[in-house]
Amino acid sequence: MRNHTKQYINGEWVESASGETIEVINPANGEAFGRIAKGNAEDVDKAVEAAHSVYLEFRHTPVEERREMLDRIVKEYENRKEDLIEAITDELGSPLEMSEKTHYQAGINHFTAARDALDTFEFEEQRGDHLVVKEGIGVSGLITPWNFPTNQTSLKLAAAFAAGSPVVMKPSEETPFAAIILAEIFEAAGVPKGVFNLVNGDGEGVGNPLSEHPKVRMMSFTGSGSTGSKIMEKASRDFKNVSLELGGKSPLIILDDADVEEAAKIAVKKVVHNTGQVCTAGTRTLVPESMKEAFLEAAKKEMEQVKVGDPRKEGTAVGPLVSRKQFDTVQSYIEKGAEEGATLFHGGTGQPEGLDKGFFVKPTIFSDVENDMVIAQEEIFGPVMSVITYKGLDEAIDIANDTKYGLAGYVYGEDMETLKDVARRIEAGTVEINGAGGRKDLPFGGYKQSGIGREWGDYGIEEFLEVKAIKGYFK
Ligand code: NAD
Repeated sequence: MRNHTKQYINGEWVESASGETIEVINPANGEAFGRIAKGNAEDVDKAVEAAHSVYLEFRHTPVEERREMLDRIVKEYENRKEDLIEAITDELGSPLEMSEKTHYQAGINHFTAARDALDTFEFEEQRGDHLVVKEGIGVSGLITPWNFPTNQTSLKLAAAFAAGSPVVMKPSEETPFAAIILAEIFEAAGVPKGVFNLVNGDGEGVGNPLSEHPKVRMMSFTGSGSTGSKIMEKASRDFKNVSLELGGKSPLIILDDADVEEAAKIAVKKVVHNTGQVCTAGTRTLVPESMKEAFLEAAKKEMEQVKVGDPRKEGTAVGPLVSRKQFDTVQSYIEKGAEEGATLFHGGTGQPEGLDKGFFVKPTIFSDVENDMVIAQEEIFGPVMSVITYKGLDEAIDIANDTKYGLAGYVYGEDMETLKDVARRIEAGTVEINGAGGRKDLPFGGYKQSGIGREWGDYGIEEFLEVKAIKGYFK
């Protein structure tokens, strides 16, 4: 059992005010495997006060000191590699290999990107006789979801530390253990007292008071739109800055000159990655009408080869969903798709054979999907592909942009000029051409209801800064 019922406040592990705890469930077998503190407003207040007591000092630390601190964090993070991988597999159910290559690695990427950004980041700029200064915004509240435990937390933490802003973090109560290890990493790396504070608990007990605390100047949130809007509403009362990374329903456009087998391979990968619990998942697969049958057959063949199973078994590609709640949600969307008249082409409701313990689902393909159906408009957050056909490029772009979201887009084909044209016309914060990998310093964020602001690298650092003009500084 992982029992970790203390909060990390002002550089110390302290008892939680309520003395209450929350059980954490292993999604691979549905059984409790640990407990964390159920924090409340009193814990939040202590943590915010701790951060507030150091924000001026931390704001004015030399950049080189913060760079060195990030460098020490990277080293300590590497020392805890095995522990992080184990915790992520326990709490999220991701296959061990993925916990290492995707989740663990993401943390390193964010801390190194922020550290390296400090080599060139301009905190001061002369304009004539005047000086423009960028400095840490002050106490920042970080609230993160469960789907990428080390990614979502590290990207915010790395940026805040680089900017010189102390934080109070509330990770998801469903995946809290990787964040607890992060606290131990920061302690070992000598992060000054008060700069990092961790308050575990649920949204109501911890997220709420953090979002409305008057000494918090900035809320950085990743999660669902409905929670994002509650946080923004609370933050608006005293004009806190907000950075919101919300949901997506991203289009994946296959052009008519694409290799159908290759396209199907990539399209399936985009839908099953992390059991579909990915905000950027390309779940609306737009296929030329003439390619429909060939694509469906190729995608089905591909999906049949996806190994769903025990995350601790070698060769497993896809583990369970994170929780019973998420399992029920995905099941009801699959039922809804069939009710709405889409064709259930592969997969469906229920659990894969032999996987009735834990929250495993069948990777699923719907064909004959219309873009106004619920399964094409709402985020399912499970491995469910909605195949929509189109007649010409303009129609494909219209369908792609006909969504309240704008987080990501994908396009596959041969002709580079067409690919670039489509990429420019998709309304989304990130567009990927032919499965191109990225870089850790590219900006990440959403258009429309997918969010406000940009994270990662130097763009992420900007979110945690204030800007000051000092007139006559050089006179
Ligand atoms: P969620 O909004 O339910 O929870 C996210 C976090 O907010 C959790 O830590 C939760 O405890 C907290 N929270 C809940 N209610 C709160 C409240 N009233 N005030 C303050 N905090 C509160 O989301 P989730 O179920 O954990 O994550 C899934 C959602 O997150 C999906 O919609 C997904 O698209 C989105 N997401 C977006 C991104 C992105 O970068 N855009 C990344 C991952 C997940």
